[in-house]
Amino acid sequence: MSDCLFCKIVAGEIPCDKVFENELLIAFRDISPVSPTHILIIPKKHISSLNELSEEDRFLAGEMLLSAKKIAKSEKINLSGYRTVINTNDDGGQTVFHIHMHLIGGRKMDWPPG
Ligand code: AMP
Ligand code: ZN
Repeated sequence: MSDCLFCKIVAGEIPCDKVFENELLIAFRDISPVSPTHILIIPKKHISSLNELSEEDRFLAGEMLLSAKKIAKSEKINLSGYRTVINTNDDGGQTVFHIHMHLIGGRKMDWPPG
């Protein structure tokens, strides 16, 4: 989608601090990190939110989780622990409407989230 920030990052039109890429997704450091490690994992395909994920995206959704696991290991937070979050719409706190999974770690998280 031409006016989507994350589609522009996928297209290389806006720079990012990329940590992982494969044919389906890319992962890059959040510009405004909330923890020592804060990475966003996004599909290259534009999907606005989790609400728009379809049955045909099943493999892609699995890839997002498996890449989170791999990146957690490469960031050396796999043993200390981490959190994976997908914010959806207003109550979920979504601000960029291209689905993304936050991978956050490097500090102790609170529960429940604010
Ligand atoms: P959400 O609020 O769940 O939609 O998350 C959007 C995230 O994108 C926020 O954590 C922002 O800090 C992050 N963000 C916004 N613009 C950029 C950018 N250009 N590069 C990296 N992260 C960004
Ligand atoms: Zn997009």
